[in-house]
Amino acid sequence: MKVVVLVGGVGGARFLLGVKHLLGLPALGPAPEGHPHEITAVVNTADDIWLHGLRICPDLDTCMYTLGGGIDAERGWGRTGETWAVKDELAAYGSDGSWFGLGDRDIATHLVRSRMMRAGYDLSDITAALCDRWQPGVRLLPMTDDRVETHVVIDDPDDGERKAVHFQEWWIKHRAEPRAQSIVPVGADEATAGPGVAEAIAAADVVLVAPSNPVVSIGTILSVPGLRKALRATAAPVVGFSPIIAGKPVRGMADACLAAIGLETSAQAVARHYGSRALTDKGILDAFLVHTGDTADTEGVAVRAVPLLMSDVDATAEMVRAGLDLAGVELPG
Ligand code: GDP
Ligand code: CA
Repeated sequence: MKVVVLVGGVGGARFLLGVKHLLGLPALGPAPEGHPHEITAVVNTADDIWLHGLRICPDLDTCMYTLGGGIDAERGWGRTGETWAVKDELAAYGSDGSWFGLGDRDIATHLVRSRMMRAGYDLSDITAALCDRWQPGVRLLPMTDDRVETHVVIDDPDDGERKAVHFQEWWIKHRAEPRAQSIVPVGADEATAGPGVAEAIAAADVVLVAPSNPVVSIGTILSVPGLRKALRATAAPVVGFSPIIAGKPVRGMADACLAAIGLETSAQAVARHYGSRALTDKGILDAFLVHTGDTADTEGVAVRAVPLLMSDVDATAEMVRAGLDLAGVELPG
């Protein structure tokens, strides 16, 4: 069975653990040789940023570390056993960007990546090289090799000036507190889907949209024109999972992102934003799962309510099972 999953960072990575578990793969580490199933994750890259001359890819790294067993589980991002000497030294210099959590171990990843980028390698090749070490057991494909970066228009809390800042500056430095006037995936219009992405979607038995941030994780993936086209064209059913439970994001500040694009924070707003593949020109969904007690009345989309809390790998695997079931995809074996 071939499963394609659209993911962001922390929420996406946790979801992938459940997909692996349901398909009989060890949640951490590589697939055993000859394993019949193949999981491809299409990962958001619009959070990526240059800082201190390093190319940082938060969502790719969160997926890679989580699935490869290197994540700091408590924080949900960055490396286990991390130390912060470089960050402290940068702060002592008053270096711009010291608000970003950059651990010493993590920096090694960024050094390898940045050196390869400067040598002319594409992000997809670099990701594959980094995954040689981490063996995530899932093919991690950047949504695009082109540079796409989410920018957020805010009134700067320091000087009151209206300006566009990188998503990370809004999200981490300002904790998404200044109201986002707009959120734009800069460069997306001209971007093409990364190598293998459209092919994986075309060849999939099912496509799952993880309960990742609907604006700055899934939304940016869908903003790559060729990727949306591939999703609309595939013979595989496309099944989404709500990141919003009882009108609130489970973790994080997705409500601030939804408000910026004029949507209410509800499972139904997310379902309608993704849209019906059958009944709309741009929609991608055939089915959508919401949490028990929620609804998402969306014409042309099959909706079912099940528990959607990824409290552990078993609970997450049950979510995935419910999604396959709703889409009429039979689990082999
Ligand atoms: P990020 O890139 O690290 O911000 O992570 P993602 O975009 O992949 O995921 C963030 C989203 O995951 C947030 O909007 C959360 O609401 C959602 N989320 C986190 N944990 C859960 C969970 O247990 N269940 C559901 N349904 N959504 C979750
Ligand atoms: Ca992210």
